[in-house]
Amino acid sequence: VEQKLAPYRSLASISADGYRVEIAGNIGKPEDVEKILEAGAEGIGLFRTEFLYMERQRLPDEEEQFTVYRQILEKMQGKPVVVRTLDIGGDKQLPYLELPSEMNPFLGYRAIRLCLQEQKMFRSQLRALLRASVYGNLKIMFPMIATVDEFRAAKELLYEEKKRLVSSGAAVSETIEIGLMIEIPSAAIIADIFAQEADFLSIGTNDLIQYTVAVDRMNENVSALYQPCHPAVLRLIKMVIDAAKQHGKWVGMCGEMAGDKVAVPILLGLGLDEFSMDASSILKTRAQISKLSKEQLTAHIETILKLATAGDVESYVQKHLTSAE
Ligand code: PEP
Ligand code: MG
Repeated sequence: VEQKLAPYRSLASISADGYRVEIAGNIGKPEDVEKILEAGAEGIGLFRTEFLYMERQRLPDEEEQFTVYRQILEKMQGKPVVVRTLDIGGDKQLPYLELPSEMNPFLGYRAIRLCLQEQKMFRSQLRALLRASVYGNLKIMFPMIATVDEFRAAKELLYEEKKRLVSSGAAVSETIEIGLMIEIPSAAIIADIFAQEADFLSIGTNDLIQYTVAVDRMNENVSALYQPCHPAVLRLIKMVIDAAKQHGKWVGMCGEMAGDKVAVPILLGLGLDEFSMDASSILKTRAQISKLSKEQLTAHIETILKLATAGDVESYVQKHLTSAE
């Protein structure tokens, strides 16, 4: 398999009928950069920054973060790098940050909710990112956004820190794109509003599925209900992609679903611009896309979106959408 996929390392991500997409990598540690580059990633679609904060006794300072962000941007040599701000809470805890125990941690005090309260911590991450921005092609996105107010508040803090840095003489890029993760159904449903206020949207299906179907993504007893191809999930994804297009913004996906063999033809047919995934899925997905016709896939979308069950969707894809012929 490796042998057969090797040529795709240096090829563009392009469908059989010439439709161009971007295949990017997800990273959780600086060492992952080499892995995704070796696999032929065209950028980083999700840099999970939690590792900087976990398994240690105190908060990382601004300098330490700046060094890591700068290194990653430099290694990527101008390719896009989407950094997600801290997504802590839920299942991920920090030993030095006392948080109240919660009945429903996944519905609780986490990610952007926590960052907007713990402003000192959040501002230091934003400053580190802003200072690193001149070393590459940085894009920043906020996790777990449920309301437009949160997105505006997060952007406001970023602009404040930028103003402060610039007036103190620091160099900050003027072309940083600001986006958000669409991983809560409320955000997907009003994606048209977010698309007017953001430079890009990135669909986080790991959480979007969990919250749409009300299935804990870690609970094995209900894992059969965790269905990427649930028609409700597909309809939400379509809403998000259509909203982005309508407002001239690009839209990516950084949840596992972006590299899922059954989902890829549907996502391509829907017009997803960027597919971001673990290194191990990149070449397989690029090869798969090269054999599909975007135009043909798009013609099937209306039918697919009317199917009743995830099983129906999977059978349909297997039967009709496996290659361009
Ligand atoms: C997601 O929710 O799809 C996602 C990419 O973020 P994480 O898996 O880190 O929650
Ligand atoms: Mg998530």
